[in-house]
Amino acid sequence: MEWHIPSLKELEHFIWRCTACGTCKVAYDYGPPSTCADICPAGTEFGFEGAMASKGKIAFARGILDGSLEWDEDLINSVYQCTICGGCQSQCQLDHKPYIPEIIEGMRREAVEAGAGPLPAHKNLVQSLKSYNNPYQGPRRLRTDWARPFKKAGQPIKDLNKESAPVMFFVGCTGAFNQASRQIPQATASVFQKLGLDFGILGENEVCCGSTAMRVGDAAEFKRIAEHNLELFAKMHKERGVNTIVSSCAGCYRAIKKDYALAADYDKLMDGIKVVHTSEFLYDLHRQGKLPLSGGLQLTVTYHDPCHIGRHLNKFIVDTEGKELWPGAYVGLDESECLYDQPRELLKAIPGVKLEEMKRVRANSYCCGGGGGVMTGFGEWATKNAGLRVAEGESTGAGVMVSTCPFCNYNLGQGAKRIGSAMQVLDLVELIDQVLPKK
Ligand code: SF4
Ligand code: SF4
Repeated sequence: MEWHIPSLKELEHFIWRCTACGTCKVAYDYGPPSTCADICPAGTEFGFEGAMASKGKIAFARGILDGSLEWDEDLINSVYQCTICGGCQSQCQLDHKPYIPEIIEGMRREAVEAGAGPLPAHKNLVQSLKSYNNPYQGPRRLRTDWARPFKKAGQPIKDLNKESAPVMFFVGCTGAFNQASRQIPQATASVFQKLGLDFGILGENEVCCGSTAMRVGDAAEFKRIAEHNLELFAKMHKERGVNTIVSSCAGCYRAIKKDYALAADYDKLMDGIKVVHTSEFLYDLHRQGKLPLSGGLQLTVTYHDPCHIGRHLNKFIVDTEGKELWPGAYVGLDESECLYDQPRELLKAIPGVKLEEMKRVRANSYCCGGGGGVMTGFGEWATKNAGLRVAEGESTGAGVMVSTCPFCNYNLGQGAKRIGSAMQVLDLVELIDQVLPKK
């Protein structure tokens, strides 16, 4: 299958557009009075300019390209000390803005090709992908353990390998294999059953979405997985009538929607299949009056935007031919695909739930610290950063931090423990499951 994954060299033209102004270090909340706060988890932790935001990372990219930097331990660590959260990308307003995460991942791909990357812990993760088709070294037969209670209750979930259904619930490896995250696929399936939805899962035949391989720079492993999935999705559409893939994981959703679209055959293989995140899927039902939210919850919650369903879905308007400004000029932003409003509207629609916003939200959200291979490569830092985000949530007076990603959910939970916070960390589907009556 042909792919359009850019090399660092192909991105060189954009790499030289950075003016080193440093705007990318902070999230601005324009006033009056104007306020700003750190936006880069790497800058917050490591402090020095070189590691901070896209400014520092782009300086490294220049050094790699002109040969003045070698792949020593310091450089490798700096390139991987980044959650690929896109916070810096949101702040920068110059012409390389649309390509900033690609530049950082391009350096990682270069490191992998040079035999210098990824980090040793990432190598174990990639090996697990090759051996088990998931990053958790989980045997295939355990992939459906989370679904056992449904079978026990006489409400088994359809197996798409044997039966047809229009909706495929793509569970994702974190929900399936991380014991602490299993309540998320369970709540998702419970909500779907309560709604009487005709859906199924791939069961033991589901494999990783490949997001982690892509984020740590192993493009070959990502392509192996993505090609398998794209062909499987097309087969499920043809043979089982699947027309919608729902993901409750922000990482899987981003990978299938955006990373897979780098395949030349994407449109052909995904023809007739829509990819949606649970927050979007349930919000559409809510708007149609098909989500009967009730119950007596009395909660003050705050909402954490996962980067992968937020600013990662930005679309950048570029003056390709130079009709407005000059060829390649960045001229505007289309946020219509970013899922900022849907989860918030659902939270506000739950009777008794009050939403209190943190200072850094939506495009200016502060990453939980777990993405981009950081939880695997720098676990201590990931948890510490999550603690900072939980503390920000506490300052709103909320007792619950809601998110829409099992990965954020897990990391924020670890962060809450680390700082001894009483903050409860929940996924949106868990709350909805609590207030949705049984059919
Ligand atoms: S990446 Fe953008 S905001 Fe950051 S230093 Fe470069 S030009 Fe300035
Ligand atoms: S992507 Fe996030 S962690 Fe990485 S440099 Fe930019 S703001 Fe920092």
